[in-house]
Amino acid sequence: MPIDQPDLIVERYLRRLGGGRPDPAALTFFASLDQMRSVDPLVADRVVAELVDQRSNIKLIASENYASLAVQQAMGNLLTDKYAEGSAGHRFYAGCDNVDAIESHGADLAKALFGADHAYLQPHSGIDANLVAFIAILATRVEESFLERLDVKNVSALSDEQFAELRTELHDQRLLGMDYYSGGHLTHGYRFNISSRLFDARGYTVDRETGLLDLDALRTQLHEVRPLILLAGYSAYTRKIDFAKMRELADEVGATFMVDMAHFAGLVAGKVFTGAYDPVPHAHVVTSTTHKTLRGPRGGIVLSSADYADAVDKGCPAVLGGPLPHVMAAKALALKEASQPSFQEYAARIVDNARALADGLQRRGARVATGGTDNHIVLADVASSFGLTGRQGESALRAVGMTLNRNSLPFDANGPWYTSGLRLGTPALTTLGMGTDEVDEIADVAVEVLRATTPVSVNGKPGKAKYETEAKVVQEARARIAALCDKFPVYPEIDLSIVEG
Ligand code: PLP
Repeated sequence: MPIDQPDLIVERYLRRLGGGRPDPAALTFFASLDQMRSVDPLVADRVVAELVDQRSNIKLIASENYASLAVQQAMGNLLTDKYAEGSAGHRFYAGCDNVDAIESHGADLAKALFGADHAYLQPHSGIDANLVAFIAILATRVEESFLERLDVKNVSALSDEQFAELRTELHDQRLLGMDYYSGGHLTHGYRFNISSRLFDARGYTVDRETGLLDLDALRTQLHEVRPLILLAGYSAYTRKIDFAKMRELADEVGATFMVDMAHFAGLVAGKVFTGAYDPVPHAHVVTSTTHKTLRGPRGGIVLSSADYADAVDKGCPAVLGGPLPHVMAAKALALKEASQPSFQEYAARIVDNARALADGLQRRGARVATGGTDNHIVLADVASSFGLTGRQGESALRAVGMTLNRNSLPFDANGPWYTSGLRLGTPALTTLGMGTDEVDEIADVAVEVLRATTPVSVNGKPGKAKYETEAKVVQEARARIAALCDKFPVYPEIDLSIVEG
């Protein structure tokens, strides 16, 4: 039963405006809080608390951003009620005309923005996008020829024995992706992920000395492994990659070239990565998330050449069920936003800010992997620079108002839980309007705090999680970060004093 609310936040907002014109985004946000409160106030309160948290801490998580309120609010609509299994114009349910229109429009926007032959908007996340791509490549490269050999139209016409034979053939394929500890993603063949159970997965690493991807070494490995799929893309690598060259290498061994651009899709959309560094003209299949540098809703997308299009569109039933039409609506809005000239300026500023962050850290004595960055990520080595684990660095910085994540460095002696590194990213703070001066201030505060932080021993051994930071440094750092947060508020359209009453 709805809970009675004597005083609606929306009414308070309108009273405060005194007849002035309401901001549609603020009005919708306040109305949605009223709706949530009428059912379960805890949920509404936590939404407000999250905004307070994000307003009082600088977001340096490289995989996060702030989607526009139009994108946010598109996700909270009645399209969520609709089942639309299948693909646009080819559904297993009646009444899908509006979902068809939204999905086709979003796919057209994606094709135009990235210059792709084909776009598939349904994956619910980056992991799903990669699963759709893997299954589509297996279907196109392995299953189709198996069926042709037996002169059979589809798998339902196979006997149980023939299907078992196909399964063995599907299972016998190799994937060569960037090793998790060199910056690749879980889905690129990590032992604990389904990718390494679906494929005989092998990993290529970065060079131990330089931290850079070595395409000559990769070529040698590629000829040894001869995989079905050569997979490029990363979650923690800071340099641009020559995708034109990688495609040449893939062609030498007849591999399908797949790129997971989840992290840097916004830099491709914003024309920072062009020519050989733009994966779309060179890869057979490109996957992405929509919520990182691309600044859209949480979700995934697959782009492909025409050869893989039919198989990609069969994401459902292969690995997906019903799509999320409300999220596809939000993806279409985000793709439209990313098609505007202002997005190109945004993408260029992300990289300027990341370079300023890497420079600022290094000038103050922090070691940065590969000596800098070409993208939105900076990997700082807190073990060699400050004698800390990544876990201690992450906690010490969060305590002064910086949200970021610890990350393994290549060949990390501290393993994936404690780590030796911090991954810092600039997409979110760039969305807020911060520039290189603010980023330099952030680098200064971060180094001051890390320098003033020491591991606390546990049972006589240096602790990997416990730490202490000098109180005076913490106090000063908090004040400096708070000043930046006040100057660059998150979603300034929303005046939280109205919620507080
Ligand atoms: N691919 C890459 C390169 C990523 O960095 C990530 C997420 O961090 C993913 C895929 C998975 O995305 P999601 O968390 O949406 O499943």
